[in-house]
Amino acid sequence: MILILLGAPGAGKGTQAERLVKSRSIPQLSTGDMLRAAIASGSSLGKKVKAIMDRGDLVSDAVIEEIVTARIAEPDCEKGFILDGAVRTVIQAEMIDRALAKAKRAIDAVILLEVDEPALQRRLANRVNEAQAAKRTVRPDDNPETFKKRQEVYRAQTAPLIPYYESQEKLKRVNGMGTVLEVATAVDAALDGAREKKAPKKPRQSEAKS
Ligand code: AMP
Repeated sequence: MILILLGAPGAGKGTQAERLVKSRSIPQLSTGDMLRAAIASGSSLGKKVKAIMDRGDLVSDAVIEEIVTARIAEPDCEKGFILDGAVRTVIQAEMIDRALAKAKRAIDAVILLEVDEPALQRRLANRVNEAQAAKRTVRPDDNPETFKKRQEVYRAQTAPLIPYYESQEKLKRVNGMGTVLEVATAVDAALDGAREKKAPKKPRQSEAKS
């Protein structure tokens, strides 16, 4: 199964992706994590993207194309994968559709986690508090000012993916305001609905006889 998790920063994509990794046995591809790893390693890619990420902007579509196409060609992606925050512009969505079509594959479903703005702000504060309490480094882009910028970038550049995937009949809207478990249950229901829709219909008794 090839899935996309869509939603504003703080909507819970990473949390739900981690759970889906376990329940569906497919890897999570987070471009944010990949880029942070590049920064931590001091690579030339890391040096190129650090300032852009720190100010809450998107890195270029060309950089994303390079890292995503390389990653999805790896053997552990053969059974499927979860794109977590890895599709942020319509250009990236078209690029992934093309790369998958070449391999005779396609996205099965796009889960949109819907969370309102005040809840996103509360989640940011929690994330920062939890990181500080656990003595983990707080992400440089997890401060109120940059977080606000990331929300604006989401609205301007990523939200146009909603009509894009709606027109492909792949978009599943999920209320992301509940507990992790409530949201997980809603995600599963949306995905199982997606699978049933794709599976060929069994003939009904009367049709099977003839
Ligand atoms: P995330 O961890 O998904 O919140 O991503 C953190 C930051 O990494 C974003 O604010 C962007 O600067 C960058 N980034 C991650 N994924 C993408 C993407 N698909 N396209 C452009 N920039 C991205």
